[in-house]
Amino acid sequence: MSDARRQTGGDGRRGQVILLVLFAAVALLVAALWLADVHHAVLAKDKTQNAGDAAALAAARWQATALDLEGELNLFHALALASLDHAAVEAVTNAQLRLLFAGPLAGVAAAQQAAMLNGAPSNPDFKEFVLDCARTARRGYGARLGDGSTAMPEPWPGAWDDYADALEAIAEGGVAAGVDNAAFLTDPSGAHWLLDPAFYDAVLGRDWCWFYRRAPGLLADYDDWRWWPAIPEADEDPAPGSELLGLRLRPVPMTLGGMLAAAGVGDAFGGVATEAPRPGPGTNELFGTWIGWDAGAWGGWDAMKDPSMPLEGELRPEYDYAGADAAMRVENPFARLGALGEGGDASGPMLWIGAAKPFGCLEIEGRRAPPTVSPVVLPVFRDVRLIPLDASSAPAGGSFDLRWRRHRTDHLPRYLSRGPAAGEPGCAWCAALARWEIPAFRESGERWLATNSWKCTVSSPGGGRGGGSRHAH
Ligand SMILES: [Zn+2]
Repeated sequence: MSDARRQTGGDGRRGQVILLVLFAAVALLVAALWLADVHHAVLAKDKTQNAGDAAALAAARWQATALDLEGELNLFHALALASLDHAAVEAVTNAQLRLLFAGPLAGVAAAQQAAMLNGAPSNPDFKEFVLDCARTARRGYGARLGDGSTAMPEPWPGAWDDYADALEAIAEGGVAAGVDNAAFLTDPSGAHWLLDPAFYDAVLGRDWCWFYRRAPGLLADYDDWRWWPAIPEADEDPAPGSELLGLRLRPVPMTLGGMLAAAGVGDAFGGVATEAPRPGPGTNELFGTWIGWDAGAWGGWDAMKDPSMPLEGELRPEYDYAGADAAMRVENPFARLGALGEGGDASGPMLWIGAAKPFGCLEIEGRRAPPTVSPVVLPVFRDVRLIPLDASSAPAGGSFDLRWRRHRTDHLPRYLSRGPAAGEPGCAWCAALARWEIPAFRESGERWLATNSWKCTVSSPGGGRGGGSRHAH
């Protein structure tokens, strides 16, 4: 009896042990798989990040090279004009205009190499989009008008075909990194709530404080979809050059005397081991067209003054200019974070947007100054560094966030002409517009703010700008 009981007890214990071992084995297996998944995710994330950063650095390096070449050609232009060599002047002017396209496009191509060498696969959607840009340039911008000119002014005859050819050649090699700070000639030139992803995020997240801080009055003033102002038109006079990685430079007409007397020009001639020309009184008054800055783009680097910027060290005044930079988006559609995704996005591709910028400064009589102190570009861009994405010229949406782009270019016009019923099924931004349209939704926000708006002025720990970094999605 007792033997049997012991026996049974022993069997029971053995059974429990087996069960425990089984549980442990299953738990270990799950843990191992989970760890493997984490490990895999972390590895893939690092790879995506490396690819994005490498692409941005490669792109910005070409921007720096192109800026320096423009600077050297500016000096050469002065030499040619001073010696009244008009053929040389024309050749230099031509080369400078072409360089505004060729330099940035070399950067786009180099960025693809860098991203792929770092393991990023060619992204079929990016490739298709670049081919789309080529088609727009060839058939849209280059469309012949009645008077023989093209729809968009051509910097040289056949420029839009040349540009489209270059984009197609890049696409042929595969596109792993998209230029997230592209400036397309058809892009709206001004701000609009409906062009700001933060508006949609605030609606979907019922972030009434966003309305209190960023759009006061919008909740109360809004009536229905017919209330919205029109989307701003495209820039009528865009800076010439590539839409991808554009240098944001403009031709500047100026007398030779004025150019030679400009800040930094004398020292720049010394830097390229050439004497500055000393033209006579008549020649000094001759006009030339040099390459200078698009003033709107090359102003102070405001973003760097934001105290919430994670910037190491202080920005020295000689580097306090915006201008040309590169924001490169790498999405890895084959590596998915699954349930481990930051922000709970279980299905989104892994994403990294690296940003980098050419740096350089003038040396004027031993003192340093930003390159923009001179009215013309000079060859001083010696350095390229990674910068925080939020300090780059990339718009909040990102030029190569193709789902967002589709919403902006396809769904928004429909919504603005026919209301939220014309929204795209499955589009989260269109869903936000449908919710926004419900008067009770907006009223609930107004009611909340009527008693709770004080909460919006209390800074929450780790709040930062617009709910965290745009790097992780
Ligand atoms: Zn949409």
